[in-house]
Amino acid sequence: MKRPLPSPPSIPLLTSGAYTAGSYHTTSLPPTLISSSVDGDSVSFEWTAPGSGSAVYKVTAIGSVVFSGWDDEVGAPHYDRSKLAVRCTCPSGKEQRMNTLRSGRVLYVCKHARSALDGACDPDGTKAIEGMRRERVELLKREKDRQEEEHPGERARITALLAGKTYEEIADALQAALKTFAGLSSLTALFPASPSSALPSPTLKTCGRCSTDYDPNGNPASLVCRKYHPDDSVNMVWESSKKCYSECGDCGRTFGLDGYNSWTKNGPREEGDTCYETEHVPLEEYDGSNDPFVKNLKR
Ligand SMILES: [Zn+2]
Ligand SMILES: [Zn+2]
Ligand SMILES: [Zn+2]
Repeated sequence: MKRPLPSPPSIPLLTSGAYTAGSYHTTSLPPTLISSSVDGDSVSFEWTAPGSGSAVYKVTAIGSVVFSGWDDEVGAPHYDRSKLAVRCTCPSGKEQRMNTLRSGRVLYVCKHARSALDGACDPDGTKAIEGMRRERVELLKREKDRQEEEHPGERARITALLAGKTYEEIADALQAALKTFAGLSSLTALFPASPSSALPSPTLKTCGRCSTDYDPNGNPASLVCRKYHPDDSVNMVWESSKKCYSECGDCGRTFGLDGYNSWTKNGPREEGDTCYETEHVPLEEYDGSNDPFVKNLKR
């Protein structure tokens, strides 16, 4: 017998553990599902969400729920944040998207997207994930038994060795191994070139705004495009002998407030240490003359 499709359609393996509400606000009206397509585990969903007044926001979820590992090998799942992109056109949605990119690990969503995703959770997701976790536990146990049989003591030795090394020392050792035939064979086994591997080969793009090379499918944290206030554009402003702040001559933002105990209506605001912070845009899609992030910069 065929299982009836859940209504509305759900995103395979999506559970509430896959995303985090960036604020405690909730929506009074749930978003309306406009379109949804599910192809295997890859999805494209779109909702509209009523905002304040006559505003209507668009929520999208594109990609798939992919696991990158498990806590302590067999605990809660880790999600690959680069594989499911959730966006909402509301102001908080843009902020949560940046929080997601900055964290690189947590998928932060606004209240509209949260409500939309709550309604699209896979009713069998928790069970399926638990099944995958149990399989993993059993696999690791079998692997460990085989390790002890064929390489007695080696696991404990390598564990102790790694614990005593810094990341730099480990990277140096891998670089050295890369230069021998046996070393390269071992590293190829460890880092296969297939796109489903933990460390697939990057496909680099160049950002039209900041000229950085980045991997659009890489860690979300590497997708952030930001410019820190240039040192030689920053002026310190003393409002009194005890109150001062910094001001960037390029973007006009104020930051580094010192001596201000509370927020005052006409006083300076803490606007962060960047002229702008957004996402990289591939060169071929970048329109410099219509870029709101650089438009008001003096240079
Ligand atoms: Zn929103
Ligand atoms: Zn600035
Ligand atoms: Zn950039």
